[in-house]
Amino acid sequence: MIVVMKPDATPEQIQHVIQLVQQLGMKAHPIYGTERTVIAAIGSKRDECRQSVASSPGVDSVVPILAPYKIASLEVKPERTVVRVGPLWVGNSHLGIIAGPCSVESEEQMLATARAVKAAGATALRGGAFKPRTSPYSFQGLKEDGLKILAVARAETGLPIVTEVLTPSDVELVASYADVLQIGARNMQNYRLLEEAGASGKPVLLKRNPAATLEELLLAAEYILNAGNQNVILCERGIRTFENHTRYTLSLSSVPWLHQHTHLPVIVDPSHGTGHTALVAQMAAAAVAAGADGLIIEVHPNPETALSDGFQSLSFKQFAETMALVRRVAKAIGKQINTLEPEPAEALSEV
Ligand code: PEP
Ligand code: MN
Repeated sequence: MIVVMKPDATPEQIQHVIQLVQQLGMKAHPIYGTERTVIAAIGSKRDECRQSVASSPGVDSVVPILAPYKIASLEVKPERTVVRVGPLWVGNSHLGIIAGPCSVESEEQMLATARAVKAAGATALRGGAFKPRTSPYSFQGLKEDGLKILAVARAETGLPIVTEVLTPSDVELVASYADVLQIGARNMQNYRLLEEAGASGKPVLLKRNPAATLEELLLAAEYILNAGNQNVILCERGIRTFENHTRYTLSLSSVPWLHQHTHLPVIVDPSHGTGHTALVAQMAAAAVAAGADGLIIEVHPNPETALSDGFQSLSFKQFAETMALVRRVAKAIGKQINTLEPEPAEALSEV
């Protein structure tokens, strides 16, 4: 249920309600809005709790949450969540652009890519150090050595690092290097991993499993939120259908649907979503037109030699062209992409 505080409720009254909810055996998640505070009370003792809290000073109303996902729902928090990690801003009018290779392969490859994607306008660097591969014989990633390379690329470019964590026992290690923990499609319902990532305090990029419904995606996000971590970015990366011309079917209608049900930002992965380099630019633009809060795109210095997902990776030139197209669409719908560099002098003098 949601405890809606009066606009003029004092911090003491809010604190009192939080304590009361906890004493009654429920978990309290306060959400401090610009107009008023609401407290999501999660747990099974709803009826007892409702009666006690309704008469507390500063409480306006107590209403049940209808959606099965609670903290993720728009009912609890009508204001959009913006996840901010250095220059990477994702949500509301901010478009976050995460780019980089599927896998970290070498320092040379990562540094060249980091410089190129930064120059083209990316606000974060991706690269897998721990790779979930369909075959056990495929390249599994450089593991901690890969994380170290990512840290070098961040130190040089200032781009925050987005990288995948595969198991709960690796969360501490990956979180000690990463700025955003990626939970991949295969692990979307690995509940212990979701809880550990939630407890790490790092922002989490949660990718949709190709066989999961959007409600299941939101319930997976709820595990992270319920661990006290509000910084969750959802990612549509394509689902399994009968179609075999594309690697997955990129379900872009999930973007407006999610926006109508959750305050969490939603980004799109047109690389895995299509599985073909030639389809990425248009689907990136279409995702932005559909209202996506960001993109995650695979970029490689030489896609032909990539150790994973080369067939869907963009070259530096293709990424720069994609960004030019994405910028035009973003501008048309009033979205902003942060820049890492100061505005050029002539642009500033016009203001
Ligand atoms: C990836 O981002 O490289 C990846 C493995 O993605 P997904 O989990 O969506 O398959
Ligand atoms: Mn990949």
